[in-house]
Amino acid sequence: MRYDVAVIGGGPSGAIAAAVLATAGISTVLIERNLENIKPCGGAIPLGLIEEFQIPDELIEKKLSSMRARSPKGRIIEMQMPNGYVGMVRREKFDSYLRSEAERAGAVVVEGLVKSIANSGDGFVINTLNDKVPSLRVRRIIGADGANSKTAIDLHFPPNELKVIAMQQRFKYTPAIQDFSDTIEIWFDGDVSPDFYGWIFPKADHLAIGTGTDDRHHNIKILQKRFIEKIGITDEPYLDEAAKIPMKPRKSFTQEKAILVGDAAGLVTPANGEGIFFAMRSGKLGAEAMIKHLNHKKPLKSYEKEFRKLYAPIFFGLDVLQSVYYRNNRLRESFVAICADEDVQRITFDSYLYKKMVPAPWSTQMKIIFKNVYHMIKGS
Ligand SMILES: Cc1cc2nc3c(=O)[nH]c(=O)nc-3n(C[C@H](O)[C@H](O)[C@H](O)COP(=O)(O)OP(=O)(O)OC[C@H]3O[C@@H](n4cnc5c(N)ncnc54)[C@H](O)[C@@H]3O)c2cc1C
Repeated sequence: MRYDVAVIGGGPSGAIAAAVLATAGISTVLIERNLENIKPCGGAIPLGLIEEFQIPDELIEKKLSSMRARSPKGRIIEMQMPNGYVGMVRREKFDSYLRSEAERAGAVVVEGLVKSIANSGDGFVINTLNDKVPSLRVRRIIGADGANSKTAIDLHFPPNELKVIAMQQRFKYTPAIQDFSDTIEIWFDGDVSPDFYGWIFPKADHLAIGTGTDDRHHNIKILQKRFIEKIGITDEPYLDEAAKIPMKPRKSFTQEKAILVGDAAGLVTPANGEGIFFAMRSGKLGAEAMIKHLNHKKPLKSYEKEFRKLYAPIFFGLDVLQSVYYRNNRLRESFVAICADEDVQRITFDSYLYKKMVPAPWSTQMKIIFKNVYHMIKGS
């Protein structure tokens, strides 16, 4: 079988890329190893994403416009988002919907684990482990196959940095945990994560509770167990899930005939571990560059240039935040104290919801700097 483009991986990045390509009339095959896949994920997405990609209401299990930040000493700061909300989705439904949209746009969706990609003439030959899928001949490839991308390995892209692992458990609601059902709770606590944070995300019929860490230094299972004990949950989870999070873009994620998008390219922001937005945006930008490349011979590198232009400042800013405040409990205590400031909340949420750096007036910036210094010296 011959196609113009093979998109390898049917998560959010791949499904969006395939939909954009097919809509433009490019013959596209989307190869997903498991159409029933449940990607380990908190499923928190910003309003900007919901609007841009027209995510239907029935997929948003909760719309949450409040958040609790909890410090190591147990201080709780209630934060409000007057201008929007965080949507909670369940990845098995979300990914399946996005793939069906790609199919509706004209992409051919096949189930098969890609086991080899070889250069051939002006394109590639792809083989999968599924006997029913014949060898596929394609002109170009979009690798959307996640953190351990087979595409990146076979096509010799620079390595993904995979030091953070995240674990999550799902608990059906019981009267004991019902209190957590309508707000997001984030724990900045060294016992729960010495270098990241713990989250409690409410879904329609369960709580998703998880934590992350650099697994070269800490044991994720021990941290997760401690987190559940600290919350006071004695029930058993009905699902355990874990996966690596690539929180640093690869040195390069574009080649002459192939590009990587989403986790395959390492596009998850430090500090908050947000990847769905960047997966879908990179899938869209990558596909748009691919269309210009196939139709007008434009080089694919414009995709990476555009992505970095739009989002490098966000990656940089969050990297600095994580390096400064996630180092020890004293600094985490200061960080939570600063979250009490209404201007900090407004700037944080406005930036999160639409991924735009929102400039604050000079006087507000000075006030925030002063509060930062004050709380860092005081340690609370
Ligand atoms: C525990 C955890 C919690 C998270 N919580 C959040 C959150 O709340 N909000 C947020 O924004 N981000 C979160 N993230 C990050 C987010 O899940 C990822 O950034 C996002 O899924 C990336 O999408 P993707 O399409 O690039 O990759 P993926 O979602 O990983 O999709 C890759 C797809 O490729 C398929 N595949 C892999 N190899 C092959 C192969 N060889 N052949 C064919 N198919 C293949 C896989 O089956 C999969 O469907 C979390 C991550 C973890 C681990």
